[in-house]
Amino acid sequence: MSDTIFGKIVRREIPADIVYETDEVLAFRDLNPQAPVHVLFVPKRPIATLNEAGPADAELLGKLLLAAADYAKRQGFEKDGYRTVVNCNEHGGQTVFHLHVHLLAGRRMTWPPG
Ligand code: 5GP
Repeated sequence: MSDTIFGKIVRREIPADIVYETDEVLAFRDLNPQAPVHVLFVPKRPIATLNEAGPADAELLGKLLLAAADYAKRQGFEKDGYRTVVNCNEHGGQTVFHLHVHLLAGRRMTWPPG
């Protein structure tokens, strides 16, 4: 698959405000935040979209969500809550084709999303 801006961030080729890291996951602040806290959790091993994920990726996808939850708890968002989002392709609103989980927190979210 082709490289993306997130691959460059994972390899530290371009700067990002990195807030959380494990062996397999990197998280950094979104450049265009949609909430007081907006962090992107990306697997270091890229998967383009959720469509490309298969059984071999199950553990990594689980780790991605657990990383977002761990960060949210450490930041104190556990009680008030927060939102996690994975956009897929055009209608889902995906613009960067390196699968990522958005973590949005710090305000009350509305439903349905736009
Ligand atoms: P998507 O639309 O693919 O679900 O989410 C992509 C997100 O990446 C958007 O919220 C966008 O603001 C963010 N983004 C795009 N380019 C960059 C960048 O170079 N650095 C950071 N930190 N975020 C970016």
